[in-house]
Parts: sequence; C-alpha cells; structure tokens
Amino acid sequence: MDNKNEIILELAYLYPDLLNIYGDRGNVLTLSYRCQLRGINLNVTPIKITEKIDPEKVDVYFMGGGQDQQQIIVSEDLQSKKNDLISAIQNNVVFLAVCGGYQLLGKYYKAADGTELKGIEAVDLYTVAGDKRMIGNVMCEEIESGEELFGFENHSGKTYLGSSTKPFAKVIRGGGNNGEDGFEGVRYKNIFGTYLHGSFLPKNPYIADKIIRLALERKGIKMPEINIDDSLENLARKKAEKLRY
Ligand code: GLN
Repeated sequence: MDNKNEIILELAYLYPDLLNIYGDRGNVLTLSYRCQLRGINLNVTPIKITEKIDPEKVDVYFMGGGQDQQQIIVSEDLQSKKNDLISAIQNNVVFLAVCGGYQLLGKYYKAADGTELKGIEAVDLYTVAGDKRMIGNVMCEEIESGEELFGFENHSGKTYLGSSTKPFAKVIRGGGNNGEDGFEGVRYKNIFGTYLHGSFLPKNPYIADKIIRLALERKGIKMPEINIDDSLENLARKKAEKLRY
C-alpha cells in the first residue's frame, strides 16, 4: 500500500561485514525497532568496500567497530567516500560511529606497530595505540543531558580531542577516550562518536530516540511522541549498572 504520509528515514550502514564486533549491528536493529513503533520506515542500505553512497539520500550513517586488520581495509576505502561524508556531516546528517569506526572519523589512528591509518578528518581528533587495552563495562554520563549511559569497551587506541570538539560523555567507570582525561566519545554537529559497544543503543534507548529525533528535525519533521514500554531496556540498564569494570 502506498501511504503518502508515511515517514521514511534512510540509514546507510557502512561496512557491515567488516566493522561489526560485539553485536554493533544491534544499534541498527534498535533504530529500526524504535522507528517502527513510531510509524517511521527506516530503510537500511548496507555499504561495502568500493560501493558508492548516495549522499543526497542518507539521513543517518552508522559505522561499527573492528580490529586493526579490518580497519586498514576500511581506512583505504573511506578515502574515496571522504568528501561525500564530510559534506554530509557539515549538513548535519546524523552519524553514529563506534570504536574503530569512531577512530576513523578523525585524522588518523596510529596502530601499535607504527602503521598510520588515515581517517576522513571530519572531526578534530586523533588516536594512538597505547600499550594497555581498555576492556570492561563502562558507565558514563552524557554531557548534554546528564543521562547515564552503559556499554562495553575494548580498545587499545587512545583518542585525543582537538579544541573544536566536545566529548560525548563523562566517564564514571571505565577508560573512555584515553583512560586519562575522564571523557568518553565525541559530539560534533550531529555526530555521536563512542567507544561503547554492547550493543550501545539497545541499552541506551534515550540516545536511539535522540538520533531519530535529530534525523527527523533535519528534514523538518516533528518526532511522533508515543509511549514506549522500556521495561526490558531498563532491566538491562539496572544489570549493567551492577557490573564491575
Ligand atoms: N583497533 C582499535 C583499537 O583497539 C579498535 C577496536 C574496536 O573497534 N573495538 O583501538
């Protein structure tokens, strides 16, 4: 049935076959689910190596995490998508990037053996591999809202933000960006960069809704306000709160 009033959002899932550890795909599932509850149709298009993106069409980008080996392939391919992605970001397209994907939005990721993986330089940040992995259950607080966030991190990369960017969250428990400054992730334009896997959005539906809201607002559409039963999500959050790092 062709419904003229149907709200449609387009999500480009970058490198689903290469960047998808710790169930990062769950972020896309949560966005689809929460859109569906609101009568929004989220079209998900996987974008693999060498495949083109259609920058005019995309409302939300998602890129997950991966090991250095996968990041090398992605880093090279991203150079051909760099200009389109930067202009999308400048046009306030929403972008969620996790861990390895987050690192590649910045200037570079310098791996432990000294190899420098180019990022797309969309955000003023860089990452260098440290000699200790940060692994564990993170608890932090979104700076914008004070909302508690939960997720699982596993990275050796230490990310440092430049002066034109703001962190996403304040670390309560865990390593966060670098284990040094007490901050987690990045917020720039409509980018959410984070080290939190888990997956992230199923346990943090507040951020999932924020992503949907921002994507709709950019198109001049008001978010349909509905009551969602988040009892399972809240249970998961309660359990996550009790985990140790
Ligand atoms: N290879 C990167 C690091 O260890 C990213 C890891 C990840 O995406 N989980 O820093």
